[in-house]
Amino acid sequence: MPRYDFRCRSCGATFELNRPMARANDPATCPDGHPDTVKLLSTVAVTGAAASGPAPSGGGGGGCCGGGCCG
Ligand SMILES: [Zn+2]
Repeated sequence: MPRYDFRCRSCGATFELNRPMARANDPATCPDGHPDTVKLLSTVAVTGAAASGPAPSGGGGGGCCGGGCCG
């Protein structure tokens, strides 16, 4: 379940809530009971991004000649 960070604009406290993504935009209440909170940028781990490494382009290099094996 993703975690969302909130900050209370009444007392300035920051707190975290674990909630389903379907309720990500629901209003959150400060632990002190203040309803005036804002959702901070999510710190949910980014997975899958940049998963593909640099693939070597086919063609020259890595072949037989050039390493001295043909020579
Ligand atoms: Zn508060």
